[in-house]
Amino acid sequence: MSGVPILRSRTDLQKAVRGWKAAGEVVGVVPTMGALHQGHLSLVRAAKEVCDRVVVTLFVNPKQFNNPEDLENYPRTEAGDAAKLAPFKVDVLYVPDGGQMYPDGFATTVSVEGLTNVLCGAHRPGHFDGVATVVTKLFLQSGADKAFFGEKDYQQLQVVTRLARDLDIPVEVVGCPTIREEDGLAMSSRNLLLSDRARIPAPVLHEVMQDVAKGLSRGKAFGELKAAAEARILSAGFTKVDYFDLRACDDLSVLDAPDRPARLLAAAWLAGVRLIDNIAVPALLD
Ligand code: AMP
Repeated sequence: MSGVPILRSRTDLQKAVRGWKAAGEVVGVVPTMGALHQGHLSLVRAAKEVCDRVVVTLFVNPKQFNNPEDLENYPRTEAGDAAKLAPFKVDVLYVPDGGQMYPDGFATTVSVEGLTNVLCGAHRPGHFDGVATVVTKLFLQSGADKAFFGEKDYQQLQVVTRLARDLDIPVEVVGCPTIREEDGLAMSSRNLLLSDRARIPAPVLHEVMQDVAKGLSRGKAFGELKAAAEARILSAGFTKVDYFDLRACDDLSVLDAPDRPARLLAAAWLAGVRLIDNIAVPALLD
């Protein structure tokens, strides 16, 4: 017994949340695809700090996988996830099955323009439509007042913030910092797919990003730093760099210098696993 109440039906979830809200309680939701690690648990901790009730959702959303093999290989560890949540005393672990989320005849897609054409969106067709659709459903099903997302998926954080605002969903989206392994690798459920050997060069992605951020703070143009950064990532053993970009925090437009709040974002393939990362870049002062 994990001790965390697991609900699998939307109506049961809605009944529980109605009761809490009637009592004036603040409800938080932490959407996940499971295979929980310290990154996910940091969101749960953040939610527990400011909410009276916390719902963690676990749903491996088929609509956001642009590659069937990736969906098939995605780690599924529900019992272990429930055990990891037990010490946090979350109120509900909501594990809807596919039929709850996408019943026969399901025909609606939520699509956020602009923000989703670039970075991961350019490399993973349909990914952000899948994310936006499932997150909209989870916001509406949970009726949460606050929703907690990681900066690890920075573009996703911007997309869900925008959709809540555009669709007048009364939820506050709260972004939480990226949690890393000791060597700097951003924690990710996909890291489980790396063999011990493939795991060795994984932190290079973050190392290179930090060095580029330092170069930018010394006034170097991003154009000068990018090619060397990509070459270093490839020579460490990554097989492909999908992107290595400097972008504006608010609208993700391309920058050549951090002359407004900026972020470095990268995605690269290591041993058949696609790793993503991003870091803030200190603003250049003139
Ligand atoms: P996922 O299960 O990968 O869909 O992630 C669920 C939530 O956890 C998303 O909001 C992610 O951004 C967040 N998350 C994943 N990894 C990390 C991390 N290393 N640090 C902080 N948040 C994370």
